[in-house]
Amino acid sequence: MILEKNSIKLLQKAIDKLESGFDLPSVDVEFDYEKMERVMMEVADKMQNNYPYFHPLFAGQMLKPPHPIARAAYMLAMWINPNNHAMDGSKASSPMEKEVVTDLAKMFGYKEHLGHLTGGGTMANLEGLWVAGQVHPEKLIIASDQSHYTHERISGVLQLNFEKVKTDQFSRMDLNDLEEKLKNGNVGTVVCTMGTTGTGAVDPLDKLLELQKQYDFRIHADAAYGGYFGLVENLEEATAKKFALLNQVDSIVVDPHKQGLQPYGCGCILFKDPSVAQYYLHDSPYTYYTSDELHLGEISLECSRAGASAVGLWATHQMLPPVKGGQFSKDLTQSRNAALKFHEKLEASDQLFPLMKPETDIVVYAAYGDETQSMSEKANLIFEKAEENSLYLSLYKYPTKLFKNVDFEINTDYLTCLRSCLLKPEHEDWLDEIWKRLEKSF
Ligand SMILES: *Cc1c(COP(=O)(O)O)cnc(C)c1O
Repeated sequence: MILEKNSIKLLQKAIDKLESGFDLPSVDVEFDYEKMERVMMEVADKMQNNYPYFHPLFAGQMLKPPHPIARAAYMLAMWINPNNHAMDGSKASSPMEKEVVTDLAKMFGYKEHLGHLTGGGTMANLEGLWVAGQVHPEKLIIASDQSHYTHERISGVLQLNFEKVKTDQFSRMDLNDLEEKLKNGNVGTVVCTMGTTGTGAVDPLDKLLELQKQYDFRIHADAAYGGYFGLVENLEEATAKKFALLNQVDSIVVDPHKQGLQPYGCGCILFKDPSVAQYYLHDSPYTYYTSDELHLGEISLECSRAGASAVGLWATHQMLPPVKGGQFSKDLTQSRNAALKFHEKLEASDQLFPLMKPETDIVVYAAYGDETQSMSEKANLIFEKAEENSLYLSLYKYPTKLFKNVDFEINTDYLTCLRSCLLKPEHEDWLDEIWKRLEKSF
């Protein structure tokens, strides 16, 4: 089996069940199924032109296939196509959204929350920073230079002043540089990246919370990629401690479409203080005409949103709840195991070396050499050669100014490295095969 297909039978059965819930006269619309088949075969043909993101030999970019239950439940919802903007357009899927958002808030240890699903991490971060700007209108947003580039761009969109904080050699926020900025007294919000997109490094949230007592600022945690790692059982103690403190930050972004087994179009923003709803509320009587409840559309900047995303995530949470000790947490633990084992192999290799010990499940590694220019070229060659061996890696540029005490010459600003996001639990079993193909690519 390369592509999972058994869930299609379940979907067929569930559509019949769904249909039986509507006591309505039959509608006979004619579709040209022959033409549809021709078009569908053309689509299938076109879609063959993809890297195999779903396969364990795809050990490159941050891509993880949706769980079959997420895919099937999402598709089932498509026969209704609910819009989670207003309750009337999403009678079943809006309550499902509230449930899954509560599950996620609980996972982070929030006692109360305000939140909703979004189209993705970018929109979720936009809402987090928008509220940050409403609370501290004239103040700075700061984030590390390894934070997602979206923060700088969003700050521009929101016309909020933005500054970058330096990072250390582990690509975590540099606390000395941070404190310099805090001393100026104009910092409103610090973005704390809980797992950078590049290397999976986790910013020092414990230290940020200490600094917060002295300098008053909001903390917005960008856990788009790393949000689920608090469930993982084999983190370093220092990393686990940082995740355990997430209940103290003002807002959190997590992307169920990154680690949470969902199709794209599923991010989430959570606020610790539900009263931030005041910034969203508005009067729009023509949209909200029946329900007295707070509609999700009233606490979201996006209007129409796919109810199907909530349905997919709800179904996934029934099977794989985001709780410690459950199957989902075991699967994440396995991904991290894969990263740790990969790291061990790199340490033992005389061709490649790891840049740092993985803090989550991303491994960044480089080719040995005398100077960074040729080392970068070597990484590019390995990347290309690996693809010929059906092993798919990604590239990452590490700022060479962060290197300390290295025995190679630094003659470029960046070192091109190889990067593997080992997000799939299967990666652990496939590690020997991945390594074999990697060695063939030197
Ligand atoms: C992916 C990511 C984003 C952007 O989220 P999208 O879902 O791609 O819009 C923001 N921050 C971090 C840390 C991410 O990993």
